[in-house]
Amino acid sequence: MSLVQSRKGYFGEFGGSFVPPELQEALDYLEEQFLKYKDDQEFNDEFKFYLKEYVGRENPLTFAARLTERLGGAKIYLKREDLNHTGSHKINNVIGQILLAKRMGAKRVIAETGAGQHGVATATACAMFGMDCTIYMGMEDTRRQALNVFRMELLGAKVVPVSKGQGRLKDAVDEALNDFVQNYKDMFYLLGSAVGPHPYPSIVKHFQSVISEESKQQILEKEGRLPDVVIACVGGGSNAIGAFAHYIDEPSVRLIGVEPEKAATLTKGVPSVLHGFKCLVLLDEEGNPQPTYSIAAGLDYPGIGPEHSHLKVSGRAEYYTVTNEEVLEAFQLLSKTEGIIPALESAHAVAYALKLAPALSKEQIIIVNLSGRGDKDVEQVFHMLKQA
Ligand SMILES: *Cc1c(COP(=O)(O)O)cnc(C)c1O
Repeated sequence: MSLVQSRKGYFGEFGGSFVPPELQEALDYLEEQFLKYKDDQEFNDEFKFYLKEYVGRENPLTFAARLTERLGGAKIYLKREDLNHTGSHKINNVIGQILLAKRMGAKRVIAETGAGQHGVATATACAMFGMDCTIYMGMEDTRRQALNVFRMELLGAKVVPVSKGQGRLKDAVDEALNDFVQNYKDMFYLLGSAVGPHPYPSIVKHFQSVISEESKQQILEKEGRLPDVVIACVGGGSNAIGAFAHYIDEPSVRLIGVEPEKAATLTKGVPSVLHGFKCLVLLDEEGNPQPTYSIAAGLDYPGIGPEHSHLKVSGRAEYYTVTNEEVLEAFQLLSKTEGIIPALESAHAVAYALKLAPALSKEQIIIVNLSGRGDKDVEQVFHMLKQA
């Protein structure tokens, strides 16, 4: 397969697009349309309207008083993406991309999903906007996540099980890309994280930046100054890049991404091309992407967005891993002290905050991005704790 390489969309040495020429044509068209609308007043007003009326933004920046007292160090604030409609940050990006799809005249929206969370968010917003929606999902994943398949169907989406290959996310991505290449003129491929070839990482960052746009203003109102640290969990990197965006040019603010021990892309990855873009990738001894494992389905990805790869290599952001035990402990402690059950993904960020806060002074401030709520994970945690 011959690949074209675009010089656009680089963050340091990472990003770009490494795709077949037909796909590059589709991506160029998408980039042109995104650039046309991203600073358009009317477009942005519409985006803000739906974030407010449908998603429920702005969401609070909650001071975690009892957790802070318990740890005896820095003040901990929680950015409450868990309170968004559908229970996580994913909806921000989905709404933004569907509005773009509408402007581009797309008649249908497609997406791929692994555990089903991005598929459900996409099906939700498609229902609200009356858009035709097709979700590609590996056959094996449709069996393991039968309830999410039902949710998507309830929301009016067509779920296409992909039996090729191993019937997992990678195979669903291939099917979705085939559909995209053949039909891109009247459809829209809605990507769920800050990954993929240019312009997707920039599009996702643009729409998720609302997280730090709000948190910055909120912390200035509450504390009269910027936070010392912002912490977020990292799967593909969308909630983290959104939580970091408005602080990247504020050198006094430490930016910390947290990964699962068994999906330590940033901590242990090497530069490589994965799914059409260059990023840090976890490779096995033969140089193939390594299977990852995380108790949080949303963090199970062997690559990472290109901008995070660059933030890591340039030293602007730091990335650490936490163990499953630490995550489970954070999951329970936040529930007990604050009455907030976090998503297992978000509990990774909380787990690192539990380690860091006691080492900082009481005047210092940590913002933890609480990317989602934990209702979806309660049954899994119940079984894990019973086994332990
Ligand atoms: C999907 C998901 C993540 C991981 O995705 P990112 O693109 O890295 O943000 C994290 N938290 C929650 C709650 C999720 O649903």
